[in-house]
Amino acid sequence: MASMAASDASPATAPTAPPPLLLRGGHVIDPAGGVDGPADVSLADGRVAAVGPSLQPVAGATVLDCAGRYVCPGLIDLHGHFYEGSAYGIDPRHELRGGVTTAVDAGTTGFINFADFRRHTIDGAAVRILPFIHIGCLGIPTAGLGELLDLRYARPKETAAMARAHADIVPGIKVRAGVMARGHNAEALQLAIDAAEEAKIRVMVHISREGDTERLLQMLRPGDIVTHCFTGKGGGILHPDSGDLAAAAAEARRRGVVFDVGHGSGSFRWTTAQKAFEHQFYPDTISTDLHRYNADRTVYDLLTTMSKFLLLGMSIQEVVAKATLAPAGAIGREADLGSLAAGRSADVCVFAVETGEFQLEDSLGVRRSAERRLVAEHVVVGGQLIDPRTVQAPLRELNDMDQEVYDMSAATAADAPNY
Ligand SMILES: [Zn+2]
Repeated sequence: MASMAASDASPATAPTAPPPLLLRGGHVIDPAGGVDGPADVSLADGRVAAVGPSLQPVAGATVLDCAGRYVCPGLIDLHGHFYEGSAYGIDPRHELRGGVTTAVDAGTTGFINFADFRRHTIDGAAVRILPFIHIGCLGIPTAGLGELLDLRYARPKETAAMARAHADIVPGIKVRAGVMARGHNAEALQLAIDAAEEAKIRVMVHISREGDTERLLQMLRPGDIVTHCFTGKGGGILHPDSGDLAAAAAEARRRGVVFDVGHGSGSFRWTTAQKAFEHQFYPDTISTDLHRYNADRTVYDLLTTMSKFLLLGMSIQEVVAKATLAPAGAIGREADLGSLAAGRSADVCVFAVETGEFQLEDSLGVRRSAERRLVAEHVVVGGQLIDPRTVQAPLRELNDMDQEVYDMSAATAADAPNY
């Protein structure tokens, strides 16, 4: 956001305050405040002014008819990639199409390119961006070659210093385990934890095939985040043959480790999620892992990912909670984001439930037919009303190296274990 105050991710010194807004007649879901029913939402000066029945518009307010729609706090996508100096990065405005007002960047940059990311993307963005900093000094430059194949790229001191210097927006340190850190996953995680302890923030760890997942789960601290919890390509939380829940995953959850979806190109499998649900193991947070390789296929946006969890049996209230209240808590922002309580940032998502027959696809290319789909109709970021259907966020052209990435992903899908 432009003009971000040091202690607050809201547009505190915007040159002109956004005009007041009254969202009238919708079904309000605000899990943080226990609101679930018809109500109006009044926004003024970039903040939530009130939520209640039959509110009167303040002078000069735009009144938006939300009848037949759901109104919830602006969605928080806990995992995406928005630095376009990386092969993964996409224009963050893409997130607005899925009702997202806070897009958490999952370590696309490291301490070397982080300042450039902030200056040229984050500070002027139409959507709020809160970035994890990667323990690897250049973040994740390419999908073709792992960022921590050589552990000398991991720089805890410099990473912690950069995180502290940007503490107003940085929620934690990111690390990826798997083929991108082949042979030294635990060492890479330990360096990320060292940086996080120095900066007094959390770690987000990407689990995947060849990632020593059980060992990593034992190392995580309360409040640390595991992303890709329903990956079905190996290295997940279930036994790859039997589907039994790993004891280390159950123990990590008991300790307060957060389990995030991070759908992505390789990390959400219908049968894995379903089996985890049989063990009563539900995700704490629902996120997309949106990037160049899935923004125009498979994932699309956060409301589409939430629709997949509806199909798996969750309620609309549950999927909203896991994309608002829960991620706000996971990054320590619950005092300002993820709620419609008076005084919170005026971040709102108005969405419709479309009915029909929709094909939803997991990361292994398996399609399931859904009768409901969630679609964004209005998005409000810091009081600014945005029409998500007219947002322009063009994707860069694909090249031969990208095609190799798709081929690799298809090969690992074909080679996947039972769970
Ligand atoms: Zn990611």
